[in-house]
Amino acid sequence: MRFINMKYSILSRLNIGFLFVFLLQAGLAAFVAIKLNRLQYIRTSILTTDTQILDYEKKVTDALLSQMRYEKKFLITRDADIYDRFLVNNHEVNQNIKELLAISGANRDFKNLLNEIKTLHNSYNELFGNELRYVQAGNYYPSGMYEENKEKVLTSMLEKLKQLRSDIKQQTYNKIQELGKVNSDTQNMTLVILIASLLLGVVISRLIMRSIVNPLEQVKDKTRRITEGDFTKDLSISSPPEIQELANIINMMCNKLLQIDKMKADFFSSMSHELRTPITSFKEGLRLLQTKAQGETSDSEKRLLAIMAQECNRLLNLINATLDLSKMEAGMMPYRFFPEDITPLMYKVIEELEPLAQAKNISIKTKVGRKLPVVKMDSERILQVLRNLIANAIKYTPQGGQIKISTQPVKPGRIEVSVADTGVGIEQEDLKNIFDKYRRGSNSGGRVGTGLGLAIVKHIIDAHGGRVWVNSNQGIGSTFSFELQS
Ligand code: ADP
Repeated sequence: MRFINMKYSILSRLNIGFLFVFLLQAGLAAFVAIKLNRLQYIRTSILTTDTQILDYEKKVTDALLSQMRYEKKFLITRDADIYDRFLVNNHEVNQNIKELLAISGANRDFKNLLNEIKTLHNSYNELFGNELRYVQAGNYYPSGMYEENKEKVLTSMLEKLKQLRSDIKQQTYNKIQELGKVNSDTQNMTLVILIASLLLGVVISRLIMRSIVNPLEQVKDKTRRITEGDFTKDLSISSPPEIQELANIINMMCNKLLQIDKMKADFFSSMSHELRTPITSFKEGLRLLQTKAQGETSDSEKRLLAIMAQECNRLLNLINATLDLSKMEAGMMPYRFFPEDITPLMYKVIEELEPLAQAKNISIKTKVGRKLPVVKMDSERILQVLRNLIANAIKYTPQGGQIKISTQPVKPGRIEVSVADTGVGIEQEDLKNIFDKYRRGSNSGGRVGTGLGLAIVKHIIDAHGGRVWVNSNQGIGSTFSFELQS
């Protein structure tokens, strides 16, 4: 429907819908009223007009027959009384025909019939008048012929009256038929209009609901995409106005979020540059000083340079870790997931960190499970996880200890990776929040660290839809494990 696409408010749409149904119901009420009126009219016309006509027709017939009888009697007796009665009946016939003409109203057929009866009655009176003149004068007249003519006229009159009676009865019968028809028409029409208004109600309410629910679905979709990080201002809803306004606000919100996103990206790139560049310059300078100025530096100056280089490294690690974690927390760390085998990544990290382990005489053993499935991962980030866990294992394991790295399939399409060490272990109290940022265990002692490594590990594994956990016994060792799925 066209009005659905127009800019009608939700309230107007509901009002228009209800108005349609109301108009249909009002139409039904008017139709029923008209039909009831018609029924009433037919009923009244049967009860009054038709029965009255029948009454008067009977009176005319009776009066006519009496008039005829008195006329015959008078011709035999010549009694003035009887003549008077003849006149009374004659008057009655005329009067009742007049009444009949008045009641029959606009019915042309009845009127014609009544006029014919009236004419015949006049002819009869004329014949009798002529005959009376002969009788009063005492002259001879052809009484047989008069008798015959009067008989003809009266018979014809009685036939016409009979026809009037049967026409009226037929008319009454027709009216009763019409009564039945109007009644059943009204019932059928009422049923049809009721069903139509019910269907119209359903169709209109569906159209109205669709015109509201569809834009709401679009809003819901867009909101979901916003939570997934899609801030494009592409929500376009033309009606209803209330939802259009909501869409405009969501687009404005997207605009704001895009600006904030850009600010965050700018912040990270400028921070990376501003913090890393000078430290990298310091490092390079220190390296030159340590290598080129060998002869001219005293032992204490060499120690100082070494400490400065170590501090530079520590600062660089802290900056890298802080920026990484901030990016992850801001949802700005880009992930590229591909199905990969974790084993080569594990060996790569072991190779990188082997010198550190050797320096502490720590042996690194591996155990790779059979039929290890490939799992969905961002290999750069999983390398970061393995680096943090294995570096921690080396850091928190004393000289001569052991580290065992194992991978094994668990459930279909899932793998579990564990890094177990024979290190210092973690205090029970620290285990609860060991993955929180800046949280360093009481076992960390004088070891260099940021307290950010495990927080980064947890973020990365969470982003993969996996889980990470630790089992540890103080003085015996710790096992850090994580699970990934395909
Ligand atoms: P840090 O820079 O202090 O190592 P992490 O976030 O990597 O920060 O680790 C947090 C804390 O967890 C550490 O300070 C340490 O107390 C504890 N920890 C981490 N790995 C081990 C491990 N392999 N053995 C014992 N303790 C560990």
